[in-house]
Amino acid sequence: MDEFETLTPAKKKEGIVFVISGPSGSGKGTVIGHLKEMYPNLGLAVSATTRDMRPGERDGVEYFFKTREEFERMIRDGEVLEHTVYNGNYYGTLRSEAERILGEGLDLVLEIEVDGAGQIRRLMGDRAVLIMLIAPSGEEQKRRLAGRGTDSEEVIAARVARAYEEIRQAPLYDYVAVNETDKAEECAKDLMAVIRAEHIRSGRMAEYIHDYFPDDGI
Ligand code: 5GP
Repeated sequence: MDEFETLTPAKKKEGIVFVISGPSGSGKGTVIGHLKEMYPNLGLAVSATTRDMRPGERDGVEYFFKTREEFERMIRDGEVLEHTVYNGNYYGTLRSEAERILGEGLDLVLEIEVDGAGQIRRLMGDRAVLIMLIAPSGEEQKRRLAGRGTDSEEVIAARVARAYEEIRQAPLYDYVAVNETDKAEECAKDLMAVIRAEHIRSGRMAEYIHDYFPDDGI
């Protein structure tokens, strides 16, 4: 079922910006995959990065892969809405991607880390809705980050520390969704509930109310 058809349509179609953050181990990718199936009116912006391409990744699909020089030029020319350095590499949201997706009347999803999320909040205010995904507990978070057992204790400890740092920022977000183990689809349904609710916030329904009072001349 196309869930969007059951949403109250905004009269002046203006997409909402959903910022989704989650530390590695939160299962963000899987949850967003389910969400896209439930709600096709989402456009996921492809970010730019200077990190190396991983096996199976394609330029322009997972990321636009850039050199440091290219990325710094894009920052200078105002081509990125926000950017950060993560693990020694630049990551940034492309203005062109955001404009393209919103221009198509879609809701925009930015899958970015906490620093970038804060920048988007400052830039867009209430137009952006910030959602953090987390594992159900610290123990489960650690278990997921321990991975296949091929990494050293040190590497795992560093990953866990970073995840904790990110989770500490959760109060800055509007919503915190828990991704229970093997229940990514349930978590995606929670995000869908957020999307539905955000679409009928009074501020976004102003035109409906306005139409009741055509003589007000406002
Ligand atoms: P990865 O290298 O594993 O794909 O991503 C590392 C981190 O960078 C993840 O937390 C991801 O959400 C974040 N990230 C990806 N794209 C962007 C972006 O455009 N801006 C910011 N601020 N973070 C991003």
